[in-house]
Amino acid sequence: MSCVFCRIVAGELSCERVLEDEHVLAFKDIRPQAPTHVLVVPKRHLASLDELVDAHLAGALLHAAARVAGAAKLEKGWRLIANTGEHGGQEVAHLHLHVLGGRPLGRMLTPPKT
Ligand code: AMP
Ligand code: ZN
Repeated sequence: MSCVFCRIVAGELSCERVLEDEHVLAFKDIRPQAPTHVLVVPKRHLASLDELVDAHLAGALLHAAARVAGAAKLEKGWRLIANTGEHGGQEVAHLHLHVLGGRPLGRMLTPPKT
């Protein structure tokens, strides 16, 4: 099994687990970009949001992300990111949601240079 997040789900690689249910695992990003930076992944391998057709699983992922943010007490706000594919900047080819917060995160995107 070469997928790093599948290996984390299988317990072959360690992680700092934040929450877990039947379908979803949330763990801290190894290179945090904010005081709270948690990844929410489906336990089943899906390469990206492009492969997400199961509405129940979609709901479970969103629900888990909201629970992560709630548990982290991000009263001033937070951001959910799902980098998807090459232009989306996705590096790990296992669907994951980034839950980010704990500092002002700025504008969503850097405007293109004109
Ligand atoms: P993306 O660019 O959306 O594919 O983000 C992949 C994220 O996975 C990056 O923020 C990495 O820091 C994170 N990451 C990669 N390997 C691990 C790991 N073993 N444990 C936790 N986070 C990881
Ligand atoms: Zn995987």
